[in-house]
Amino acid sequence: MKTRTNQILVVDDEIDLQRLLQQRFRKKIRAGDLSFQFAQNGVEALQLLQNSTEIDMVLTDIRMPEMDGLTLLSNLAELEYPLKAVVVSAYGDMRNIRTAMNRGAFDFLTKPIDFEDLEITIDKTLASVSYLREQQQKLKDALARLQNLVFYDQLTQLPNRNGLLQQLTQRIEENQTQGSEFVLLMLEVERYSNVKSGFGHALSNRLIVEASHRLEQAVDLSTVPARVGENTFAILWHSLNSLELDRIVNKAEQFRQLLESPFQLGEIKISSTACVGIALSNLPYTEPEAFVQAADTAIQIASQENSRELVFFDLCMQETAMQRLQLEAELQKAIEMQQLSLHYQPIFRLGTETIVSFEVLVRWQHPTRGEISPLRFIPLAEESGLIVPLGEWVISEACRQLGRWQAEFGNASPASISVNLSSLQLQSPTLLLCIDASLRDAGLTGEFLKLEITESVLMENIKDAVDLLAQLQRRNIQLSIDDFGTGYSSLAYLQMLPIDALKIDRSFIQDIEENPTNFDITSTIIDLAHHLGLEVVAEGLEKEEHLEILHSLSCQCGQGYLFSRPLNTNAATDLIQSKLL
Ligand code: C2E
Ligand code: CA
Ligand code: CA
Repeated sequence: MKTRTNQILVVDDEIDLQRLLQQRFRKKIRAGDLSFQFAQNGVEALQLLQNSTEIDMVLTDIRMPEMDGLTLLSNLAELEYPLKAVVVSAYGDMRNIRTAMNRGAFDFLTKPIDFEDLEITIDKTLASVSYLREQQQKLKDALARLQNLVFYDQLTQLPNRNGLLQQLTQRIEENQTQGSEFVLLMLEVERYSNVKSGFGHALSNRLIVEASHRLEQAVDLSTVPARVGENTFAILWHSLNSLELDRIVNKAEQFRQLLESPFQLGEIKISSTACVGIALSNLPYTEPEAFVQAADTAIQIASQENSRELVFFDLCMQETAMQRLQLEAELQKAIEMQQLSLHYQPIFRLGTETIVSFEVLVRWQHPTRGEISPLRFIPLAEESGLIVPLGEWVISEACRQLGRWQAEFGNASPASISVNLSSLQLQSPTLLLCIDASLRDAGLTGEFLKLEITESVLMENIKDAVDLLAQLQRRNIQLSIDDFGTGYSSLAYLQMLPIDALKIDRSFIQDIEENPTNFDITSTIIDLAHHLGLEVVAEGLEKEEHLEILHSLSCQCGQGYLFSRPLNTNAATDLIQSKLL
């Protein structure tokens, strides 16, 4: 196999050096192993580097016009690909050497150049870059694999539910900013379960693959097909202009037709019917999940009624906007009246049974409606902005509780508490003030606090987040990426941001023992975390089998009903106490 040509960028205003290098390395250059590029100063060098990802090594002088070598070094850190710099200078005093090394130089040589030494240095540097490139490639592959597993249905390679949500997010934004419209059609292949029980898995899979081909052939640039359930497809159709009802009906009927003409699967001919549910962009929702849910509801109604009609979702089918507003008002009151409380769920180091942290989970005990799930009221709090005061209360209360445990149990108290952060909190100017005050009042320092931010929230708010994360890092506050695997991460950010841990979402763990895709996703995330030097926490462990699998994949930490449910303060205190005995 032909290996790639290693490229060295020489930055020096001394023209003679070019000739000397070309001469000394002519064999390697001729064999295509090595090539040199030249720049006269730092500015020219940066231009070349910004336009190429192929340069492996920079060999730079210090004193040059326009931009000196030491300034160039500081600028190299921002390049996204692996690269090492070696400084060659006549000014090899300790101060220059220290500065160069502090700015990331790989080595330092003095002039006049000893070419034998230079050759050894080049070999050593290139070997190190090649190792870095390999590692980088592995990470990229792992991330690409993960994203394929997470966003695409593995049977049809159509986008899956997550992939659809991603597309919907974009359409919702365009709808809000440009007034373009969209329609979400949901189609269910009704004979699927009969085929599966009558002819088996292989044939029902073929039915789905064949159906997906038909849909794919019918879509154009304005429509995206997805497989969102075992026998359910979605079509997301958008238009810059308004979509009139009869066009929508026509389109929906066309897609239904595709699924209703008979399928010839080998010897067997299958005729199926399809029911259709529709959600339109004029629904008063802002979250993509809400639209999918709406289309889901519509299709359930279509399938229950065995209806040949297209069922359009309307708000009467679900909780009305009024009810939401009322709940929002009650939530506001609940925050003021302190009806909220915190539960604590232990996170264990797998294999040792030690508690490494407690995740703090908020609870709302409603005086008449009973307990309301955070899955319901946190999104409401986010939409109304109430999440900011609510979240600040959670942080301060959680810190206070850890302070109490420390006073009571000393070293046996958990090493940290983990608090969930919402998107709006990242943008809140009072967040850091609140964190500082909460830590101080509880007599804690930063390392006792962990923050969990979901992957999608982090990546969508990356601009706001970079500064905030640097501030958190300065305080030794740790950061976990929550629900990892459910959003699109950029490798560059994963490497650059001060992250300590990845948390694998429980949706992947839940059926890991029987779902090969989820097994693959989990093991890819664990690999990725190990490569990145991050800790991994799996959540939602419910069975011994889950523990065995995760342990065998070298996952470090776990959380779930298998170990403990979220506990109220007294029960959590008892748990810590019991570990002392
Ligand atoms: P999350 O951050 O993914 O939290 C984990 C959820 O999984 C919790 O649900 C927890 O009770 C549940 N869980 C833990 N182990 C298991 C298990 O073995 N099986 C099953 N089926 N579930 C398990 P919970 O408490 O209902 O919280 C739901 C979500 O609400 C959280 O998901 C988080 O996103 C949000 N949330 C909760 N408290 C807060 C908060 O204080 N602030 C913010 N911003 N979000 C919060
Ligand atoms: Ca969490
Ligand atoms: Ca989760």
